[in-house]
Amino acid sequence: MINSPEIISEIFRYNVPLQKYTSFRTGGAAEIFVEPLGVLELKRVLRFCKDEQKKIFIFGKGTNLLVGDNGVKGVVIHLGGINFKNVERDGRYVLAGAGVNLPKLIRTVALSGFGGLEALTGIPGTVGGAVMMNAGGKYGDISDTISSLATMTFDGTIIRYMREDVEFGYRDCNLSEQIVIEVEFQLNESKIEVVLEKMDEIYNEKQENQPLGTFNAGSIFKNTSQYKAAELIDRAKLKGLKVGGAVVSEKHANFIVNTGNATSSDILELMRIIKETIKKEYNVSLEEEIHIW
Ligand SMILES: Cc1cc2nc3c(=O)[nH]c(=O)nc-3n(C[C@H](O)[C@H](O)[C@H](O)COP(=O)(O)OP(=O)(O)OC[C@H]3O[C@@H](n4cnc5c(N)ncnc54)[C@H](O)[C@@H]3O)c2cc1C
Repeated sequence: MINSPEIISEIFRYNVPLQKYTSFRTGGAAEIFVEPLGVLELKRVLRFCKDEQKKIFIFGKGTNLLVGDNGVKGVVIHLGGINFKNVERDGRYVLAGAGVNLPKLIRTVALSGFGGLEALTGIPGTVGGAVMMNAGGKYGDISDTISSLATMTFDGTIIRYMREDVEFGYRDCNLSEQIVIEVEFQLNESKIEVVLEKMDEIYNEKQENQPLGTFNAGSIFKNTSQYKAAELIDRAKLKGLKVGGAVVSEKHANFIVNTGNATSSDILELMRIIKETIKKEYNVSLEEEIHIW
């Protein structure tokens, strides 16, 4: 009874446009969109998906996602429920729910006199999304600060991992088909002003080099072991290249900006042209960093 589709479907929203949720502000609708309150409800949703053979999509804050114009057929699960937004600190450890807003967490931690997360300044999104992406940059990655985490598998089992049990790579990790539900970080004691100063420094640097305040999804392609994607795209003189309402940023060549009326197809076409040009001119195959649904 508890898992019956009727009971679960009360929290479902149907045909929800994802455009308004993604940082690109493009993309079609989710067949079903659901925001479980906490782990018990999440488990019931997953059970429903299994019984009804629905495809599962996990949505953080959509800051690294390109959703196709036709949307997604299946259940989009957004960990926006109150119980996924808890933050608890115990000495040098902070436990955060997967739905916690990463920039807010970084600030809260800094203001309580702890450092460790400031390397992630300027990265939007949720804690769960950042873990899945192993978000970071030249000052460090989120995996540097994680001490343990918990996931729920698509069949509803909770697994707890110590940091060393998870493989983190360049903008990925080996937790596929699992939903990050909470993460514990190990911080280091620091002076509030030192951490805030570092945050300001990193933020100012990003503001100078990235088209902040526009509709984008961060870096589109991964750097290769030899080359930075932005440098190759810049060298190929692709800055300013447009398809429909999508343009290669003049400020950062590895960012594509939706100038207001871009579709996801415009962005995909621009990405295709960039990849083709870089392959032709430098014989380098660029790989997407953003996830495409
Ligand atoms: C202006 C700007 C600057 C950026 N700068 C950086 C940067 O410096 N470094 C960097 O690494 N990234 C950067 N990004 C990209 C992005 O912010 C990060 O990848 C971020 O961590 C994504 O978090 P999210 O919650 O938005 O994830 P989403 O975009 O919603 O999802 C990303 C992927 O993670 C999965 N996912 C999300 N939450 C969970 C969960 N709880 N459990 C399992 N899977 C989940 C999704 O299914 C998807 O595959 C930037 C983006 C923007 C717009």
